[in-house]
Amino acid sequence: MPAVQKVRWGWNSLLGSEDDRIRAEKGFGRTLAMEFRAKAEGHADPADAALVSGLCQQLAARVKNKLLSFSAEVVRLPEPTALALPGGFIFVSLPLLDLCQRYTDELAFVLGHEMAHVIRGHAADRMLHDSALNLAARVAGRAGPLGTWLRGTGLQMLASAYSQDCEFEADELGSRLADAAGYPPLASVRLFQRLEALHQNQTPLGQYFSSHPTPAERIAQMGRLWRPRSA
Ligand SMILES: [Zn+2]
Repeated sequence: MPAVQKVRWGWNSLLGSEDDRIRAEKGFGRTLAMEFRAKAEGHADPADAALVSGLCQQLAARVKNKLLSFSAEVVRLPEPTALALPGGFIFVSLPLLDLCQRYTDELAFVLGHEMAHVIRGHAADRMLHDSALNLAARVAGRAGPLGTWLRGTGLQMLASAYSQDCEFEADELGSRLADAAGYPPLASVRLFQRLEALHQNQTPLGQYFSSHPTPAERIAQMGRLWRPRSA
């Protein structure tokens, strides 16, 4: 993507029509996704790749805004993590797949959560406010400024949690997407409980899960949202 297009991404996000904004985010996300793939250590197992990609498409079919599109890939990274780039490019690490024990209902929630960060604009907002990234995007005519950003603060930022409000919002919308696609949303509670147990054993889980909100707070919200209704 030409550098000038990267610069326009920010402007279009703020001033353009919804269609312009989504197209600009897609272009920007695609470039960043290429840089991100180059960082991953080797390819994922084809069965894992098909599992995650297939689930993502099932959930994407339930997204109301048909201008949005999504893809999900498995990457080899050392920690259990998932992240969403603007434009709907989602990555799930192999250790996170292991942590979910490849249960489709848990993975559907994880994917729904990441998709929600894209749908609600959290992923794009955060990047628009990152001064180092904006600087990288403005360096015209030089190869790989985004790659440099990614190797520096970028990866750390992408792997960290959003604000507590955004995380709860993503849990809520993510669980609704999973439910609409036929995956029981309370499966997320099972995943949170496993996280809680690991946390109590002081197993290091990396940045993605160590940030707020705690698994207990997320379980409480799921209980409020999906409490079985009495007849
Ligand atoms: Zn999140």
